[in-house]
Parts: sequence; C-alpha cells; structure tokens
Amino acid sequence: MGRSIYYFNPKTLSFEKKTFSWKDIIKRVLWFLATALAFSVVIVWISFYLIDSPKELMLRQENEQLKEELTRLNKRYDQLATVATDLQKRDDNIYRAIFESEPMPISERYPFLGNTQKVNSSTPTDASALLEEIHQKANRLTVSMAAQSRSFDTIVTLIGKKKQMLQSIPAIRPLPNCYEITSGFGYRYHPILKVLRPHTGIDISAKKGTPVYATADGVVSKQTPGGGYGNVIVINHGYSYQTLYAHLSKKAVKPGEHVTRGQVIGYVGNTGLSTGSHLHYEVIKDGVRVNPVHFFFQDITPEEYEAILKSSQQVNQALS
Ligand SMILES: [Zn+2]
Repeated sequence: MGRSIYYFNPKTLSFEKKTFSWKDIIKRVLWFLATALAFSVVIVWISFYLIDSPKELMLRQENEQLKEELTRLNKRYDQLATVATDLQKRDDNIYRAIFESEPMPISERYPFLGNTQKVNSSTPTDASALLEEIHQKANRLTVSMAAQSRSFDTIVTLIGKKKQMLQSIPAIRPLPNCYEITSGFGYRYHPILKVLRPHTGIDISAKKGTPVYATADGVVSKQTPGGGYGNVIVINHGYSYQTLYAHLSKKAVKPGEHVTRGQVIGYVGNTGLSTGSHLHYEVIKDGVRVNPVHFFFQDITPEEYEAILKSSQQVNQALS
C-alpha cells in the first residue's frame, strides 16, 4: 500500500504519477519533527541565555544597585577610618602631650596589627568580597574606637591628677591687695649692712596684722629657719615646691596642718631682722629660691602683673 501524487515531467510534457511508500512518509515526518525540535532548542536557548525576561531584568538591575550601594558603604568606612585616625593623632599629640603622658602603646591601640589577613587596598567588584571587606573594616573600627574610649578614660584620670598638681603650685599673691613690690628678688641693698646682697624673696609693705594667705595647697612644715626671718612659716606643697612667709606678727596655723590656697596662715609683722612692717615671701623650687613674682598669675590682671613686675625690678633697699 502507498499514496500517489502527480507531478509534471518537463521532458515528456505530461503529468506522471509517483507513488510513495509508508516508509517514505514516516521518514519525511520524522525528518520534519527532528528539524522542528532542533529549531525549538535553538529558540529556547536564545530566549533563556540571550534575552532577559522582565523579572530577570529587574533582578539584574536590583543586583547592580546593591553592588553600587556596597561600594559606597565601603568608601564610607574608609572615611570613618580617616576620622578615627585623626582622633587618635589628636589624642597622642595634643591631649596626652598636655598632661605629659606617653601616647597609648601601639599594641594596645592596634591589636589587629599582628593579624596577617590584610585589607585589600583596591576596591573589589565582587559583592561577596565587598561584603567581606566591609565586615573587616567595621571590626577594626570597632576595636580602635574601643581603644580610643579607654585612652580618654586615662586622660580623665590624668586631668584629676593635674588638677591636684595645679592646686599645689603657688599661684596667688600672699597679700591679695598688693599691687606693688617694695623690694624685689635678686641683688638688693641690705638695710643694715648697706651692701648689695642677694635678696632671696620679695618684700611687700603692709600694716601690722594684715592677713597673709597660703599661695597653694600644702602642709605646714616643722622647720623654722633662722637668719633673721623672725616668726616664719614654711609650707611644703609637694611637686618640689615650698613657700616661706617671714617677719609675721602672729601665726594662724600649726606645723603638720594641711592648708589650702587662700587660707589665712598668719599676720604681717616686723619680727626678726626687719626695718618695717612687711611680709618677706619666698618660693623655693627643688631647694632653690626663685622669683616669686613669676608665680602670681591666678588672681591678677595683666596690667596689675605688669605694675608688680616693674616695681620688683628696681634695685633698691630691701626691708630684709
Ligand atoms: Zn625680704
């Protein structure tokens, strides 16, 4: 059995009959199906791999945006790290310098320095690598900020100690209403011997009984130096400072007593080798007498200081 078709034969100029067997037909059908299958595979491949669906397109755009966001975040961390470094530099060079303290040890400030895993300097483009880098930077920033916080705690402690030290260094005038020095520090004529001799303190004329104030916190010394000082008080301030108040008419404190700056410790007098009612005041640093005028700075205006300094520089006769 088979099917026949007619076709035109140009040689004979007549229609001739051609008969197809079932085998031929099946072969043709199979050939057609195979071609169709191959064609559809090509179409499907193109649509899958070369042309994005709207959803894929959206996801791809979203992905790109996220990656851009990660890159921006990475750069933000770099900026934060710069700010943190600046803060550390200020801490080491300014705050700690003010309080005469060593900078925080490197190992304490940067504990991750021993870590061999290094941060990539070039910005990675792969999202997971970017995320990893951001995580690393965030961890480092957290560690250095914690170290910075500890450093500031240390500075707060130093401020407390410094306050105590500043409170123990002579800073005010022993007679608050003194605007002139009768006789200054350095070589002055001795009132009795009439020769130039070192004057180890300053003389401030005042009425007998005028209150004399401690110029810094300290403890009243047991020592009462002689040599014409008369009724004399020495205060030990610590930090290698001492002050001495001579020729007093009366003392208001006892040896061993703790005194604070501005406390009345005695009264002006004319005791010892003295040629008039006055206070002889000395500042001693590391056992050496220094010019007390340089220690007037807390309760004084620049103009008042200028006047006191000028009067103290006259090479006149000491009241002793
Ligand atoms: Zn004197």
